[in-house]
Amino acid sequence: MAKKIVVLGAGTAGTIVSNNLRRHLSDDWEITVIDRDDRHIYQPGLLFVPFGIQKSKTLVKSRKKFILPGVKFVLDEITHVDPEKKVVKTRNNSFDYDFLVVSTGCKVVPEENDGLLDAWGKNAFTFYYLEAADVLHRKLREFDGGKLVMDIAELPFKCPVAPIEFVFLADWYFKKRGIRNKVEIELVTPLQAAFTKPKAAAVFSRSAKEKNIKITTGFELNRVDGKAGYIESVQGEKVNYDMLVVVPTTVGDKVITDSGMDDGIGYVPTHQNTLQALKHEGVYVIGDATNVPTSKAGSVAHYEADVVVFNIMAEIHGVKPEEIFDGHSTCFIVYSKGTASLIDFNYKIEPLPGQFPAPHLGPFSLLKETKANWWGKLAFEPLYWNVLLGGRHLGMPPTLVMAGKEVG
Ligand SMILES: Cc1cc2nc3c(=O)[nH]c(=O)nc-3n(C[C@H](O)[C@H](O)[C@H](O)COP(=O)(O)OP(=O)(O)OC[C@H]3O[C@@H](n4cnc5c(N)ncnc54)[C@H](O)[C@@H]3O)c2cc1C
Repeated sequence: MAKKIVVLGAGTAGTIVSNNLRRHLSDDWEITVIDRDDRHIYQPGLLFVPFGIQKSKTLVKSRKKFILPGVKFVLDEITHVDPEKKVVKTRNNSFDYDFLVVSTGCKVVPEENDGLLDAWGKNAFTFYYLEAADVLHRKLREFDGGKLVMDIAELPFKCPVAPIEFVFLADWYFKKRGIRNKVEIELVTPLQAAFTKPKAAAVFSRSAKEKNIKITTGFELNRVDGKAGYIESVQGEKVNYDMLVVVPTTVGDKVITDSGMDDGIGYVPTHQNTLQALKHEGVYVIGDATNVPTSKAGSVAHYEADVVVFNIMAEIHGVKPEEIFDGHSTCFIVYSKGTASLIDFNYKIEPLPGQFPAPHLGPFSLLKETKANWWGKLAFEPLYWNVLLGGRHLGMPPTLVMAGKEVG
């Protein structure tokens, strides 16, 4: 009888891992990937939509097109996981498995933030999902002066550099429109600095200062008062706004919580080096659904996929999974339309200056605003659709490489 691997969610992580597994395992292994819809969205492009740099419809493609023949794609809502009986239930079916890969991601839930829905679409917006990014695009065009606040409601959230990129792009956008002197820009974050890693945060803070962008730290959102135009923190601090752009509270998928597999806030407790679920045998977790202490980013999902495939193959081969994953994450940070920076780090090593991916050659520069980095950011999209989603290797290890980095 065929052995079975079931993958939950066909987003970035689930598509890469399913295809990567198919490339490595014999036909004795049946691979099934389940998702509720057939719309694969290139999420990094959502940042560009509000500023008219990219149109939202170009970011959406059919998931099916990117899943290899030989992987069974099921379009259905996953309703329950029983990791003891090794069964997944969907609205219309049920699937038993030998190995399970959880890649159900995470999503923003504005309804969790007091007062936010009253202001939603009036003077409070987000760019974290497609329809909302389009609304923000229209509203930004109408905005002709006042205070723009970019607020992160709480931790953890997806793509920790996106809010910084948003305020940098807002600076570029209002300059281009000739009204920068009429707009105040402020980034409000629950973090103690502009970013999770102190050295990179210092670099971003300097850039923000040069662009006349205020950063308010340690602000955990308690409520939004859209009528009076302010946000209030848990500690009672208030920040006024004319236009609020927010990363609402972010949670893992309900099915994880309903199946009793979560850590209390919707994420699966995951071994940070093997990527095995801590409480369940034969279960791996990948992408935004994990609780591992690194960025919730597509680059991380791609690196993790190599580790999950390695460890599933090791287990099939009768060998213990290895503690390979080091939290590796690589992110471009857009500074303006035409320039960007780049960071590459892991659980322990902070972003360092240097060249990437080839030592001394680059062509990308780490922790530095360059035009080449901008072109890298743009080139990443066709690479994503045509190479990475297919589960192909780029010849780079999934872990951080120190060659090309400058220490001290
Ligand atoms: C604005 C923005 C900018 C970003 N920029 C970058 C960037 O520059 N670089 C970068 O690396 N990353 C970036 N990211 C983050 C990146 O897109 C995500 O980290 C990545 O997509 C995570 O992949 P995932 O597979 O874990 O989750 P997803 O891609 O979200 O996929 C999860 C899938 O699971 C499915 N699913 C969940 N629950 C169920 C259920 N019950 N039944 C059926 N299906 C279900 C969903 O439909 C979805 O398709 C950005 C994200 C945003 C929002």
